[in-house]
Amino acid sequence: MLYLPINEIFSSIQGEGPYVGVRQIFLRLPGCNLTCPYCDTFVDKLPRLSMEVIPGSRTFQYYDNPLELKFLLDLLLKFNFVRHHSLSFTGGEPLLWNRELAQFIPLVKEKGLKIYLETNGTLPDRLDSLLPLLDIISMDIKLPFNGQVFWNEHCRFLIKSKQVKNFFIKIVLSNTSQFSDIKTARELIADIDPDIPTILQPVTAVRETVPPKPRQMLEWQDYFLESLKNVRIIPQTHILQGQL
Ligand code: SF4
Repeated sequence: MLYLPINEIFSSIQGEGPYVGVRQIFLRLPGCNLTCPYCDTFVDKLPRLSMEVIPGSRTFQYYDNPLELKFLLDLLLKFNFVRHHSLSFTGGEPLLWNRELAQFIPLVKEKGLKIYLETNGTLPDRLDSLLPLLDIISMDIKLPFNGQVFWNEHCRFLIKSKQVKNFFIKIVLSNTSQFSDIKTARELIADIDPDIPTILQPVTAVRETVPPKPRQMLEWQDYFLESLKNVRIIPQTHILQGQL
């Protein structure tokens, strides 16, 4: 019997990328293999899962971690699946739990809900068993930070993810983003497929991170559009509404 630790479950709007505004059930998994400087998420494994009982109420029920997969499905079924566009696996980095997800996702799909994966795009080997189960992949391209670079991992991840019809890339940009890294990101995407939708997301100010100036964002969008066909600037919108 497989178990999965979950930090949060809630029903809210998707706040990022091309699916902004659709209603989703969010399942936040603990743990991450990265330490991005702008991270606004508590990623450590919590002893208890918090589940928001009424969407937007900030009233939670708590369950001990980890959860048996069938019990977790029963918790999700408390939400009306028909009113939700999809189930979003977010984190942390959900692919750290790829073995468990390969067992759990078919149970959810049997109930008719689409599967949306948010991932930092650095663990391509963990994607294989999940690829046939995913309906939408939101893959980050992480520009290098603290001496860490991910181009090789991103390249392999991109090639695999392209098999999923609804696949897009998100790049978070700040006022310290380097042109040389932006150039590498553009070349990476253009070499694989210039049709891949690419979202430029100005960072939400957290701690010392500062978003780029509006003019800078437009210049970078112009630059991406020289090689790519579908490039949009979309900030995090759920923050504006105070949504989870
Ligand atoms: S990949 Fe996401 S969850 Fe992990 S540290 Fe970066 S922003 Fe935070």
